[in-house]
Amino acid sequence: EPVKKLVAKPNKLGTIEQEVQKRMLDDRIREMFYLVHSQSIENSTKALIENQMISLMALSAKLEKLEGSEDERMSQRSEITNRILKSIEKLQNPQSCGDVNTLVCNLDKECGFGCQLHHVTYCAITAFATKRMMILKRDGSSWKYSSRGWTSVFEPISKCSFDDAVGKAEMKPFADPSPERVVSLGIVDSLLTKPAFLPQAIPEQLLSTLSSLHSHPPAFFVGTFISYLMRFNAETKEKLEAALKAIPFSEGPVVGLQIRRTDKVGTEAAFHALKEYMEWAEIWFKIEERRQGKPLKRMVFIASDDPTVVPEAQNNYPEYKVYGSTEIAKTAQLNNRYTDASLMGVITDIYILSKVDYLVCTFSSQVCRMGYELRQPSGADDGSKFHSLDDIYYFGGQQAHEVVVIEDHVALNNKEIDLKVGDKVGIAGNHWDGYSKGTNRRTYKEGVFPSYKVVNDWRQFNFEALLD
Ligand code: GDP
Repeated sequence: EPVKKLVAKPNKLGTIEQEVQKRMLDDRIREMFYLVHSQSIENSTKALIENQMISLMALSAKLEKLEGSEDERMSQRSEITNRILKSIEKLQNPQSCGDVNTLVCNLDKECGFGCQLHHVTYCAITAFATKRMMILKRDGSSWKYSSRGWTSVFEPISKCSFDDAVGKAEMKPFADPSPERVVSLGIVDSLLTKPAFLPQAIPEQLLSTLSSLHSHPPAFFVGTFISYLMRFNAETKEKLEAALKAIPFSEGPVVGLQIRRTDKVGTEAAFHALKEYMEWAEIWFKIEERRQGKPLKRMVFIASDDPTVVPEAQNNYPEYKVYGSTEIAKTAQLNNRYTDASLMGVITDIYILSKVDYLVCTFSSQVCRMGYELRQPSGADDGSKFHSLDDIYYFGGQQAHEVVVIEDHVALNNKEIDLKVGDKVGIAGNHWDGYSKGTNRRTYKEGVFPSYKVVNDWRQFNFEALLD
C-alpha cells in the first residue's frame, strides 16, 4: 500500500529525560482535572473544561501508546521483571538447602488475606535485601485460610522444605546484619527502626531506567515479588482462567471496581457509595473512547465483600454490563471468611482486578492494593491506571513517602504550607482535588499544597542480590 511507504520508521525510545517529562505531563493533567472536578462552578462551564481535560488525558494516553516506542518500552519492562524474578529464584533455590542463610516467615499473621500476603511480601523483600532464602514456617501448612496450607493454591516458595532448610538450627530473631544462619522475621508493625530496604525503596541499579519506563517504580518492584509469591498451582490456574473467561474482554476494555465494605467501614475506612466508583469508571471510559476514537461498550467487574453492590449496580446502571464475583465465593465468604471457597473467592477477585484495564477502589484496602501491585509486572505501564477514592498507594509499614518540591508555594491560608524548590515533604495523602497533604521537612509544618508543585523522591537501596 502506497501510504505505508511514506510512514517513517517507528520511533525508538526517547531519552530518559523525555520519558520522565512525558510522565510528569500526564500526571499534571490529571491533577488539574482533580482540581477542576472538585470546584463548585457553573455546570456548563465545568462540563466544557472537564471535556477539554478529558481530551487532553486521551492525548496523553495516546502519546504513551504510540506505535513503536511503546513496544520497545514493553520489552524493556519485561526484561527488568525477568531480571528481578531470576534473582529471586536463584536465592530461593540454592544447591543445598541446609547450609544457606535463611529467613523464616510466619504466614499466619492475624489478619485478612491481603494483609497476610503483604506480610509474606515484606518477608520476601527483607530476605532478598539481606541475601537470605525465604522459607515459610512449616511450609505454610498451618493457615487459617486453608487446611491444606499454602500449596493448596500456590506453588511452593522454594524447592527446599522448612525441615531441610532449618533442620535443628535455632531460629533467632531477625537482625541486620546477623551472624545467625537461620533467622525468623516478626511482623513489620513490630519494627523499632525502619530498614532502608523497606518499600517503597527500589534497587538503585534500576532507578533511572525504571523512572523512564514506569510511572510507579515502587509498585512495579513490589508487584514483581507478589507475582513470584502468587505463582498459582495448576488447579488454581484452571479455576482462575475459567473465571477470567466469564468476562468478555474481547468486546472491549473493562473497568474493575473493588468496593470494600463490611468490617472495614467506620473502623479503618469511610463508606463510599457505588456512584462514587461508577463516576470514575465513566470518566475513564470517556477518556478511553477519545483515545481509541470509537464508542465503547460500558463494562465493569465488581469485587466486593458486600453482596448487595453487584445487584445494586445491575439495577441502577442499565447502560453498563456488570460482572461480579461468583455466588459460591461470596456466600462462603459471608458465612465464614476463612474457608477454601472464600480463599478462592478473594484470589479470583484479586486476579481479575490485576487484569482489568482500569481500577477504581479505595487504596486503604489491601485487596485492592494487591490487584494494583499484581498488574504492574505485566509489561505495560499500569502505574497510573487507577483511581483511589481515599489513600494514595502505600505498603503497610513502609518508610516515609517523600516528595521533592519543584515549584515554590506561598501559603494562601492557614491550612496551606509554604514550599521552596528542593524542600522535601513527607506525604500523608492526596485529597484528589488538586491538593495534597504533607509535612515540610525543612519547616516541620504540616498542611496542604498544590500537588503539581512536587514530584516523587523514590528511595533507593543497593539490593546486592539483583543479578546483572
Ligand atoms: P483489607 O481489610 O481490605 O485491607 O484487606 P485484608 O485482605 O487484610 O482483609 C479483608 C478480607 O476480607 C479479605 O482477605 C477477604 O477475605 C475479604 N474481602 C475484602 N474485600 C474483598 C473482595 O473484594 N472480594 C473478596 N472475595 N473478598 C474480600
